[in-house]
Amino acid sequence: MATILDRSFDTAVSAPSLTVTEIFKSVQGESTWAGLPCTFVRLTGCNLRCVWCDTDYAFYGGERKTVAEIVETCAAMNCPLVEITGGEPLLQKHCATLAQALLERGFTVLCETGGSLPIDRLPDNVIKIMDLKCPGSGEVAKNDWSNIGRLSRRDEVKFVIADRADYDWARGVVREYDLAMKCRQVLFSPVFGSIDAKSLVEWILADDLPVRFQLQLHKFVWAPDTKGV
Ligand code: SF4
Repeated sequence: MATILDRSFDTAVSAPSLTVTEIFKSVQGESTWAGLPCTFVRLTGCNLRCVWCDTDYAFYGGERKTVAEIVETCAAMNCPLVEITGGEPLLQKHCATLAQALLERGFTVLCETGGSLPIDRLPDNVIKIMDLKCPGSGEVAKNDWSNIGRLSRRDEVKFVIADRADYDWARGVVREYDLAMKCRQVLFSPVFGSIDAKSLVEWILADDLPVRFQLQLHKFVWAPDTKGV
């Protein structure tokens, strides 16, 4: 799957380039970086189809841009934090090239990935924010479990939780893999508009789980289905 998509997104051009859905400045909505100004580079294409996906507009289309063009656009945003996101950014061959170019330009670089592809495709200094897909996403079978061994203490692991069954599953994974010791932060986030946030907080507290509860900040600032925020 990845090979086929790599071919379609990385056609023969001289300068390294990627297919981009949008580049915009906003506040970071999730992770321990939440609330900080951030430039988002949303790459096109995804190999997963999470049932609650809120960025399906990034599955197709997009515009071909060179790495140099993307870096210049980010520089013009005048914001030291850049997140490469998608879709699934790791599908594109030159995602790592872009990340390295942004690091060399002095940005702090985050990469948000669905967790189905090896995160060591990225430079070490990129901060990976990696999903582990819960059963309620419909994509639990796609998790690349070897990624847990690739995490660093800079990285964050996110569970998006749709119901109590997802919570029980995520709790089991956190405990089985001692995840809190393998990354900077484990994040538990309710599917927006699905479970009651208060219930999720109560479950975390009742279990003394070493995770950070979070809400998708940007959905409270803008209308939930707004693109480019
Ligand atoms: S991995 Fe992300 S972009 Fe892809 S379907 Fe799931 S939520 Fe949507």
